[in-house]
Amino acid sequence: MEPYRIKVVEPIPVTTRAQREQALRRVHYNLFGLRADEVTIDLLTDSGTGALSAAQWAAAMAGDESYAGSRSFFHFRDVVQDLTSYPCVLPVHQGRAAERILFSALLTPGQITLSNTHFDTTRANVELAGCRAVDLPCPQAEDLDSTEPFKGDIDLRRLEEALRGPDAGRIALVVMTLTNNGEAGQPVSMDNLSRAAALCREHAVPLFLDAARFAENAWLVTRHEDGYRHLSPRQVAEQAFRLADGCLMSAKKDGIVHIGGFLGLRDRSLAERCELLLIATEGFPTYGGLAGRDLDMIAQGLTEVTDPRHLQARADAARHLARLARDAGIDIVEPPGLHALYLNAGRLLPHIPAHRFPGHALACQLYLEGGIRSVELGSLYLGREDENGTPVTSAPYELVRLALPRRTYGLSHLNHVGEVLAATARAKERIPGYRLIEQPSLLRHFRCKLEPDVDADGAR
Ligand SMILES: *Cc1c(COP(=O)(O)O)cnc(C)c1O
Repeated sequence: MEPYRIKVVEPIPVTTRAQREQALRRVHYNLFGLRADEVTIDLLTDSGTGALSAAQWAAAMAGDESYAGSRSFFHFRDVVQDLTSYPCVLPVHQGRAAERILFSALLTPGQITLSNTHFDTTRANVELAGCRAVDLPCPQAEDLDSTEPFKGDIDLRRLEEALRGPDAGRIALVVMTLTNNGEAGQPVSMDNLSRAAALCREHAVPLFLDAARFAENAWLVTRHEDGYRHLSPRQVAEQAFRLADGCLMSAKKDGIVHIGGFLGLRDRSLAERCELLLIATEGFPTYGGLAGRDLDMIAQGLTEVTDPRHLQARADAARHLARLARDAGIDIVEPPGLHALYLNAGRLLPHIPAHRFPGHALACQLYLEGGIRSVELGSLYLGREDENGTPVTSAPYELVRLALPRRTYGLSHLNHVGEVLAATARAKERIPGYRLIEQPSLLRHFRCKLEPDVDADGAR
């Protein structure tokens, strides 16, 4: 059972099918265009959507809103230092600000960054700095059905080849994303992280953690990795941070807050350069674009998130939903992680070709069927067509992500999702594909317009 009881409630919108049909038409079949009031269960993201604890709200009241030298900052800094061991801690308004600041200070155009998989904003900020982001996921990540526990690992062989290869001089840093959000939220083993750290040390390349889900990664390590089962998630997390030279953190995930993040660094001269950028673009270093109370809420969230009962409840919820999906006949990316379930839409809807977006079709159907908002991670997100609509590239997999906000939905909400998955799968042959009718040149999935790919008489 969930290790908390409910003190504050928020009604969830309930809509009719006719209202949902109308809403989808209005937003040109792009779920990002919906108003939240039109969504019953919002599984779009686990970022900034968690529920705060009573202790976090209490911490907010104690927040010190001084411009410089706020008490809240020193409390926040102490908590982050204690967790991570990094002497320099720079608060930022969210993870991507940490990315921009670190990469602006550290990278020079033409350099290369390596990662198990760069998250999309991480990649964008590397590219904005004029550099190339190279992903080196481990081979077992390619097999969506494999239940191997650490499919988020970096490919150590390719990492070593890169660090010894002809472009070695241009490699500026390695980022390990924990858990690996770009690879279906799969975790990274401590063995893999330690070996990657050793290679980085040997080649004098700094190693950073993209630590958005450090606690969830640590939990999975305590469950599945020999040599770590006797440790607490907190102890594993501390060890992970100590293997790296710094971290980028979106506190909207494992900080369990609505906004916030930080940059942790060992190198004081690098931290001084980052601090200047922080002052120019985010705020004075003792608040970094946040309110004092935000810093207190992050500090409290960071102490709650490694509670084994919190992590156990999250793992149980994900496993429960995974079972409902499998029972409905929908394959997922195995094994289920903690922050989201990834549905294999390509396999469920073989009648829809990649350029008619099976993932998007499934996401729209889940909304129509039960007011559930999810997100496509397939060819709408990653693919490209020429001016005539002929596909140039499509995604390797057509997935739909059901993200699980922290402490927000209970098991009965998930049971509703399960019923919607079952109803959707029963009528899968009738689900239409979608045709793009308008798309922006960048990050098209957020703003593109689509229409169902059906004939005038409604048949596919
Ligand atoms: C969310 C996320 C980011 C970016 O953080 P924001 O707070 O959304 O800016 C970076 N890396 C990973 C792995 C993330 O999940």
